[in-house]
Amino acid sequence: MAYIDSQNFMLNFKFNEPLSHHTTISSGGIAKKFICCEDDETIIESIKYSQAHSEIIQIISGGSNIIFHDRMFDGIVMKISTKGITEIIRNGNVFLTVKAGESWDGLVNYAVASGLQGIECMSGIPGSVGATPVQNVGAYGQEVKDVITSVTAIDWDSLKTITFSNEECNFSYRCSRFKSNDAGRFIITEVTFKLNKNKTPEIKYPELEKIILNDKDFEASDSVKDKLMIVRNTVINLRKSKSMIIDEKDPNSRSCGSFFTNPVLNENEFNKLKSRVSDFPFFKTDKGYKVPAAWLIENSGFRKGFKLKGAGISEKHSLAVINCGGNTSDILNLANKIEESVFIKFGIRLIKEPVIID
Ligand SMILES: Cc1cc2nc3c(=O)[nH]c(=O)nc-3n(C[C@H](O)[C@H](O)[C@H](O)COP(=O)(O)OP(=O)(O)OC[C@H]3O[C@@H](n4cnc5c(N)ncnc54)[C@H](O)[C@@H]3O)c2cc1C
Repeated sequence: MAYIDSQNFMLNFKFNEPLSHHTTISSGGIAKKFICCEDDETIIESIKYSQAHSEIIQIISGGSNIIFHDRMFDGIVMKISTKGITEIIRNGNVFLTVKAGESWDGLVNYAVASGLQGIECMSGIPGSVGATPVQNVGAYGQEVKDVITSVTAIDWDSLKTITFSNEECNFSYRCSRFKSNDAGRFIITEVTFKLNKNKTPEIKYPELEKIILNDKDFEASDSVKDKLMIVRNTVINLRKSKSMIIDEKDPNSRSCGSFFTNPVLNENEFNKLKSRVSDFPFFKTDKGYKVPAAWLIENSGFRKGFKLKGAGISEKHSLAVINCGGNTSDILNLANKIEESVFIKFGIRLIKEPVIID
């Protein structure tokens, strides 16, 4: 249905849109109204509409880190689909300002093909550019917080456009102000990244490093672009082997990626865990002791390939809860059971990574 507002602006709403078509875990009820925004003006006019009609709005982009309940979403689901990449070179640095609806992996491919270093290890992560600051997306030793210089967003209440510096985003492990204190307050419209021209990729992640160090083409090449492409392809192959690339033919990829973040324990929590189990993997970070959630899950009785009703654990990755023909209730039921078992066995509360919309 097309709605024409008082300024003669046309909003093209779809009614009763199945949200399973817009989420990578393929679950969720219907959205009462659904709108796809291809420009910032449509975003602003949709907010004005929602305010005038007292309707709630939920933002989605790629739908790869969000889970809707099975009930109808009684409001407007607004999909951000704005596109555009602007490149500026300043003092030898390359700055890419990217519209929120651009595909993240499309951007990584663009950067690698242009010989720009800084995001190649984050190849293959599904979703949009605008969502990457929300949970400070990261993989294989890189995080967006290390390359983002600013994030531009529309303030829901005032409709003003605000630009946040990197420091103002309050980035931390899989979190930022947009996922914590200011969750739901801003609609991100643009992100600016600072990338390096002619810089050889730095590999910090042991699993990736092991492969790259043995890659004869990587060693032999003196082209930064080729080296970046080798890293990108290696990461994509690693991700494919774990079903961490969206592939319609791969049932293990009907997920939100990792369902839980890796717990980071303080000294006291770490000692408590040590008193319960003598041997467990951990990494010391500046924020505390990071314990792999996958290890906790497997050692509390949930193996890869485990199924419960219409949900399961990926056969390739114990951190990925997958949809096996069920619905959101099945998925959350299994996730809650996993959380409960980990808590009983290890005294640690796992935190769900995807955003759950009730
Ligand atoms: C197979 C698979 C593998 C994955 N691997 C990784 C990984 O390695 N590392 C990692 O960090 N994540 C990973 N993820 C999670 C996910 O891809 C990322 O979190 C991604 O950034 C989500 O982008 P999206 O566009 O799909 O966001 P959505 O799922 O659409 O939205 C996620 C949240 O961000 C908000 N949001 C989205 N766009 C905007 C915007 N423009 N402004 C304000 N808020 C917005 C939404 O409201 C929601 O709260 C994986 C997911 C899958 C399915």
